[in-house]
Amino acid sequence: MVFFIFAAFRMRYLLFFLPLPTLLKHTTSSKLPTPWAVFDIHVFIDPNQQGKEHLVLALGDIDDSQPLLMRVHSECLTGDALFSQRCDCGPQLQKALERIAQEGRGAVLYLRQEGRGIGLVNKIRAYQLQDQGADTVEANEQLGFAADLRQYTICKAMLDHFGVRRLRLMTNNPRKVQAMQDLGFEVVERLEHQVEKNPFNSRYLQTKADKLGHLMDFDS
Ligand SMILES: [Zn+2]
Repeated sequence: MVFFIFAAFRMRYLLFFLPLPTLLKHTTSSKLPTPWAVFDIHVFIDPNQQGKEHLVLALGDIDDSQPLLMRVHSECLTGDALFSQRCDCGPQLQKALERIAQEGRGAVLYLRQEGRGIGLVNKIRAYQLQDQGADTVEANEQLGFAADLRQYTICKAMLDHFGVRRLRLMTNNPRKVQAMQDLGFEVVERLEHQVEKNPFNSRYLQTKADKLGHLMDFDS
């Protein structure tokens, strides 16, 4: 009896920590004109997350004929759509689309995991704590979250859909490179993806470099 209780507990523990097998499904696509190029927008739906939609913005032939110029971008409503200067998300997204347009081929995987995975409400709560002096990592921890809850497993289903295996990744974050390698992709190149800092995000960027291992050069 004790064994069964232990086994059941252990199974629950394992199930809680193992990422669910992704059932992400390519659902629809269309053209999406932007100031930089006319991209193809592909919508994927994740039944594991109550039908959450994730996006791929693609330009050119998305296959494995050449390593794919790519950015994995996690949703940041305030930065991507509302021009927030608290972070560097909006300019990073724009820079990725510009680079892809310049080369004529590439993709942005747009993952709907707001606020490094804690959601919009908790992100705004974290901003309030930052207004009172906490840094971005301390604020998440004061709210009871790990500094970074993002998962990249959904990228695998997206890239498998297009048959992509080799990547040229636009990122300052070594964890993203490692995550893609752990998913079985070959990262043939990491392209630095630093954008201009401003008076409102300089502490945030410094914390990302100091505490989250992002590779940034603030002197240049
Ligand atoms: Zn942001």
